[in-house]
Amino acid sequence: MATPGAHPATKGEATLIAPEILAPVDLTENLELFRAKLSLYLKPEEIARIESAYVFSAAAHRGQLRSSGDPYVSHPLAVAGTIADWRLDPQALIAALLHDVMEDTAITKQEIADRFGKSAAELVDGVSKIDRIENQSYEEAQAENFRKMLLAMARDVRVILIKLADRLHNMRTLGAVPVEKRHRIARETLDIYAPIANRLGLNTLYRELQELSFLHLHPLRYRVLAKAVKGARGNRREVVGKIMETLRRRLPEAGIAAEVMGREKHLYGVYRKMREKHLSFSQVLDIYGFRVIVKDIPTCYLALGALHGSYKPVPGKFKDYIAIPKANGYQSLHTTLIGPYGTPVEVQIRTAEMHHVAESGVASHWLYKDDNALSELQQKTHKWLQSLIELQSASGDSAEFLEHVKVDLFPGEIYVFTPKGKILGLARGATSVDFAYAVHTDIGNRCVACRINFELMPLRTELRNGDRIEIITATHANPNPAWLSYVKSGKARAQIRHFLKTQQHEESAALGERLLAQAVTGQGLRPGDIDAAVWERFVRSCGAKTTKRDVLTDIGLGKRLAAIVARRLASVREAGGGKPAEHKPQGAIIIHGSEGLSVQLAKCCRPIPGDPIVGIIRKGQGLLVHTHDCRSIGKTHHERDNWVDVEWEPETARLFEVGIRIVAENRRGVLAKVAAEIAAGGSDIQNVSMDDDRGIYTMLNFTLQVAHRVHLARVMRGLRHIPEVLRITRTKE
Ligand code: MN
Repeated sequence: MATPGAHPATKGEATLIAPEILAPVDLTENLELFRAKLSLYLKPEEIARIESAYVFSAAAHRGQLRSSGDPYVSHPLAVAGTIADWRLDPQALIAALLHDVMEDTAITKQEIADRFGKSAAELVDGVSKIDRIENQSYEEAQAENFRKMLLAMARDVRVILIKLADRLHNMRTLGAVPVEKRHRIARETLDIYAPIANRLGLNTLYRELQELSFLHLHPLRYRVLAKAVKGARGNRREVVGKIMETLRRRLPEAGIAAEVMGREKHLYGVYRKMREKHLSFSQVLDIYGFRVIVKDIPTCYLALGALHGSYKPVPGKFKDYIAIPKANGYQSLHTTLIGPYGTPVEVQIRTAEMHHVAESGVASHWLYKDDNALSELQQKTHKWLQSLIELQSASGDSAEFLEHVKVDLFPGEIYVFTPKGKILGLARGATSVDFAYAVHTDIGNRCVACRINFELMPLRTELRNGDRIEIITATHANPNPAWLSYVKSGKARAQIRHFLKTQQHEESAALGERLLAQAVTGQGLRPGDIDAAVWERFVRSCGAKTTKRDVLTDIGLGKRLAAIVARRLASVREAGGGKPAEHKPQGAIIIHGSEGLSVQLAKCCRPIPGDPIVGIIRKGQGLLVHTHDCRSIGKTHHERDNWVDVEWEPETARLFEVGIRIVAENRRGVLAKVAAEIAAGGSDIQNVSMDDDRGIYTMLNFTLQVAHRVHLARVMRGLRHIPEVLRITRTKE
């Protein structure tokens, strides 16, 4: 059975192949090897299709060379070879052969779809998208997010497998690349791709990517360590042989059939242990590693018992990854024993199937077969994958299983770039406004527009993985309540609400101050008579956390009555020795109509400047202004305390809505005449409705905008001159 990365370079010292001795590629020979791999598991007609993809790829890349000087097509061929080692399906193989054509040649996704099917084209497109974000720089601290972004973008696990195979071949041929680029790619492999391989359980690949990265990042340390390991191996041979012999004897004695093998430590692992645990080379290497492979799970535990009976286990070192597998599906029993000469011996015990999973991970279950149903192990993996991926169709046969499985390791999130290359994770469906708030609250509060991938876009645009977002702000911009209808993140929502609430509070506090000033005058005092000392005493009597501002806001919102607060302030002042004031009539609150949320003109009577008005404070809603004759205020007579004297500001700048009803003869063109006359009167029509009455008369209802009563009177006078108009009334309901 094929294992990922089963390449000569992974076996022991073979990794020591120096970059400079890479031989030129023999394309004919490589193609033969590839055909041989395909014929192990594919039908002749499938192989023919794959070969036509090779011919297509070779033609598309014609004339291009790799850094090594080899024809470019040798690269996709090698990548497809790895995909064949993993025994993936024909679509994945075709996509592997074509994985660079969209980025490097003029071939389009549509052309690939036309020739090789939509599925292969989607895979190539997926790989190309990852290539594009790969060229963005990322900060080192952001490797984790970068990995998530890649995984979230890939959707289909085959895209990741092709990308990993691509990276493997690039790493194997990295010696031909200029040294600076070599470092960047090796670092990226170590930070991004090796952990992804690990996450997917592709252990052999994971180790090889780490070894190659280490070789290219620290060639000297690599060579020194390789030499030391080779030397130590000679010295250790005797100890290893002795332990191996004991294990091989002890297990059958306990009635256990097992395969025992020594484990070579890979250089990067040794290097990392030395660095992270501050161990010397010999301390790391003196831990001997063995693997015991048995037929089933019960035997694993029997073997464990037998080993613990032979050698003393090191307390706290036993781990049962069979009962609780690792997140990537890895299963084994781990234990450390005190071996002969007192050296620690690490032993991993597992079944053959577990071993296969441990080496090939996700790929081990995706072998392309078109006949048999999922084996028990595949079923188990199926479950494991379900926890990792979004399964679109639960299918019994593995080819279809592969076809329908979509990887979405982080289905709830998307990852986008800031202009400086920082990566932010956001909820799926997030917009530029969410992004702005994720960067900084001030950016969110001040954002007015955005550029997505250098193009101006509406703020509400939904972001996609890998987008580069730039927020445009304006100093005096404010959050828009409409944003609440589309923002996805809790943070943006909370900040927008907070801002709007604060703004309303500010307006309410301003109104409260005016209402209180009026009420204070009503107590025969001047506002200046209530000084800071009076306020302090008053506020102290209100409760622990109350402030003057809270009191004013409460008055503005109608939660406290200005008159009562004023009376109490007056008595606090007197109690503190202030002179009693003489009673004076209180002045009115001036209404200018643009106070914001704290002062509203009642919808029932729609007062306009010039109308006699009255203000009514309503709990939590601020001041509502009605006309004197509004019918709805009659009902609130018993709550006289809530009534406030209000007056219009003599000159208001804004326009006010007012309703009028016109009864006119039902003749053609009458509406046009009326509308023209309204316009001539300098008023705008906001809305018009007409009774659908086909009689002699018709009723027209207008909502107009006027500056004040005099303006309205002028408009109405103009309308009366129209012969068809019989009656005009202002509507109040
Ligand atoms: Mn490539």
